[in-house]
Amino acid sequence: MTELPERLAQVRAEIEEACVRRGRTSADVRLIAVTKAVDATAVRRLVESGVYECGENRWQQAKDKVTVDYGQDIVWHFIGRLQTNKVKYVVPHFAWVHSLDSLSLATELDKRARMLNKRIQVLIQVNVSGEASKAGISPSELWSFLEQVLPLSNLSVRGLMTIAPHFENPEDARPVFRCLRELLTEAQVRYPEAQLQELSMGMSNDFVIAVEEGATMVRIGRRLVGVPKERE
Ligand SMILES: *Cc1c(COP(=O)(O)O)cnc(C)c1O
Repeated sequence: MTELPERLAQVRAEIEEACVRRGRTSADVRLIAVTKAVDATAVRRLVESGVYECGENRWQQAKDKVTVDYGQDIVWHFIGRLQTNKVKYVVPHFAWVHSLDSLSLATELDKRARMLNKRIQVLIQVNVSGEASKAGISPSELWSFLEQVLPLSNLSVRGLMTIAPHFENPEDARPVFRCLRELLTEAQVRYPEAQLQELSMGMSNDFVIAVEEGATMVRIGRRLVGVPKERE
């Protein structure tokens, strides 16, 4: 296993190359280091290497990391299934929630954010592939869901998120990412006033394809921190 700076440089280079192929600028792709499988020491190493955006998928695993002072402002992204009863813990520490997929969760996030006088940035998780094991609303539910969540004043709905199925060949994930991008484009047409710009898609095995298809946020765990992927 190579050292973190090398792994980071390699991931950044792959993002850059994918951007060049599509005439995009890599400044438009945010690298989120998923730290769910590592501890605060590893977060500190990431920070020292210049990574200031981190992702966690469970409050239980996040709580000992998000409260540490790393000497830098970390932008924390909540990327996993979020139970309503955990929202009160998550909202003070996390700037972004990528996994919005129910009205009850939206309402609770809005309420807790209002109590703290903050706005929480959210992405709507869409289950593009339709796998039963995956969270997210179905593409056909997106329009009525947007109608319901856009008016919530302490939420900033910023775009869409998806998790592609695991494929041996990441190329097979391309239609999933493309579908999410097309949904975002349609959402922008339907809601020109909303700030819908973000596409959170792509993980260690498929982020290159995701960037080629327009990802503005990639969520990368194993390739950076070098631990086995846990079962979802
Ligand atoms: C764990 C996780 C990731 C990162 O996965 P890797 O394969 O380790 O890169 C990305 N997104 C979500 C929602 C995750 O739970």
